[in-house]
Amino acid sequence: MSVVDRQEWDVVVVGAGGAGLRAAIEARERGARTAVICKSLFGKAHTVMAEGGIAAAMGNVNSGDDWQVHFRDTMRGGKFLNQWRMAELHAQEAPARVWELETWGALFDRTEDGRISQRNFGGHEYPRLAHVGDRTGLELIRTLQQKIVALQQEDFAETGDYESRLKVFQECTVTRVLKDGDQVSGVFGYERESGRFFVLEAPAVVIATGGIGKSFKVTSNSWEYTGDGHALALLAGAPLLNMEFVQFHPTGMVWPPSVKGILVTESVRGDGGVLRNSEGKRFMFDYVPDVFKEKYAQSEEEADRWYDDPDHNRRPPELLPRDEVARAINAEVKAGRGSPHGGVFLDVSTRMPAEVIKRRLPSMYHQFKELADVDITAEPMEVGPTCHYVMGGIAVDSDSAAARGVPGLFAAGEVAGGMHGSNRLGGNSLSDLLVFGRRAGWHAADHALARTGARPHADDAQVDAAAAEALRPFSAEGEEPADGPPENPYTLHQELQQTMNDLVGIIRREHEMRQALEKLAELRARARRAGVEGHRQFNPGWHLALDLRNMLLVSECVARAALERTESRGGHTREDHAVMERAWRNVSLLCALTDPSGGLAATDAVRGQITLTRETTEPIRPDLLALFEKDELVKYLAEEELYE
Ligand code: FAD
Repeated sequence: MSVVDRQEWDVVVVGAGGAGLRAAIEARERGARTAVICKSLFGKAHTVMAEGGIAAAMGNVNSGDDWQVHFRDTMRGGKFLNQWRMAELHAQEAPARVWELETWGALFDRTEDGRISQRNFGGHEYPRLAHVGDRTGLELIRTLQQKIVALQQEDFAETGDYESRLKVFQECTVTRVLKDGDQVSGVFGYERESGRFFVLEAPAVVIATGGIGKSFKVTSNSWEYTGDGHALALLAGAPLLNMEFVQFHPTGMVWPPSVKGILVTESVRGDGGVLRNSEGKRFMFDYVPDVFKEKYAQSEEEADRWYDDPDHNRRPPELLPRDEVARAINAEVKAGRGSPHGGVFLDVSTRMPAEVIKRRLPSMYHQFKELADVDITAEPMEVGPTCHYVMGGIAVDSDSAAARGVPGLFAAGEVAGGMHGSNRLGGNSLSDLLVFGRRAGWHAADHALARTGARPHADDAQVDAAAAEALRPFSAEGEEPADGPPENPYTLHQELQQTMNDLVGIIRREHEMRQALEKLAELRARARRAGVEGHRQFNPGWHLALDLRNMLLVSECVARAALERTESRGGHTREDHAVMERAWRNVSLLCALTDPSGGLAATDAVRGQITLTRETTEPIRPDLLALFEKDELVKYLAEEELYE
């Protein structure tokens, strides 16, 4: 059929954010010829947008910090649904990953005695986030990019070719993972500029494509977050874990409408910012849940003293985990105590001198000045919840990052599930990218290099099918005349975003989620006729038509899992099941494709494309449970787990 360029590599990494680049560096350093593919320009991945910092228990600012405290905070934040072995590895290895970044050239902010500075963030007991002002992600990507260039220079010195062992294919989109029997055999993709198709054959593929936020209308996420990696894994036969858990960050911009959803970093609260309603009340004191009561201040005086004397006072409730703060803001607005544009007020202007605000929060200062004409050194910001992060993702082995059920497939970063349980703590993503990016690259290289017999082959029939799927939007009349006229992909995307925002958003109700599933079935049928005009060159409408398949798949996973979980926990709040149930603590929900051949058969709203199964989680190892007081465990764990 189509003429398709083919190349052979040992490891292919899909995604060039923090997780993908860290994986690629590791795989190349372990001797695997490694290709990296990304949708945007090299260095422009979503990780660049990360603001507040990287969480790692280095104990630079408070020597009481260590990996055990970090592990405890992460499990509490995730409401004990975390894949505990991932949380353990993450807490143990994050400091080494930060120090390693420094040896590769990262320039972190310093403490007065010259150590890497660490700031406070919600849910972290001690100041723990290594940072570069509020532009930490930029420094992280810059450093990893620099490391990649350094490796390419080494390769040039040895082979005369910069790209002989490590090559970046930028502005390319992968649409299918290819398989030889059960084994991964490579990926199929297209160049965004020319529309040309290509195949990279490899026995190991690492998926590091980030999140799914572009399925929601109000989001802090960039255009790349269309759930591609989640969908690629599903289509290749790997299940997704706990997709109901979607984090709504409490503080996104709410005004003007064109910038609604853009993130206001948690550092604003970490550095002393407070939340007030339209009556001027610091309302978070009314929203401290029982499980956190002993750890948070009961009065404004105590909360304010904590900034200078954290050892003898409890933390301000503005620094509760994100799910708690987002729900509180939602409740205040609903009760009629919101700000003029439907948010609440976040104030630093009365808490810090103007020059300190400009020094510690430079991006926020410019963001509000330029986008909203608000001077945050003189007046409060208006903020409200925004879809920010997906805790659910590809089900992986904790140690090796191998995707379940598909030999040769690995996943790391936001696209992987398990690490954060039902709610991620701020700063724990950047550290997750480094810890598990490295592990994915390591094990992918081992998998590829340990092969002895013939390499798995990307067979022509699969390549032709992938090409035909990608070309369908150019002949989108539908299979039958009765199917109706071609659909505009932009219209479909807008309807999808509205549906997810309104019906599977921050507060969920059974009848609304059922409605959402019906609407998703309708959109799915219409998306098969998503049509575009023109050619494959420079055609963003075509790109969106292809991304729709992925967004519809992951949205169905979110809606089905959210309907199934009849409790409220972390980033999943049910109005009709408002409490956290201990019986659900050890239940994970797995989404798999109903048609295991990887096809997308036409299916109705009730059956859909996704089959959901329940799975009992592995019991938490006793020495890790022993890090908690029994009184605390009683609040989360089921009777039999406690008894064991
Ligand atoms: P990304 O950095 O998003 O990279 C994904 C890559 O995959 C990109 O290169 C993309 O082009 C590529 N890709 C996607 N689909 C395809 C495809 N089909 N084919 C080829 N390539 C593809 N976390 C923290 O820990 N601390 C913070 O301070 C922080 N601040 C944040 C601020 C903002 C505004 C936002 C939105 C998030 C923040 N986060 C923060 C979260 C964190 O930035 C992300 O979770 C993290 O960067 C995800 O990294 P990743 O490597 O998994 O994916």
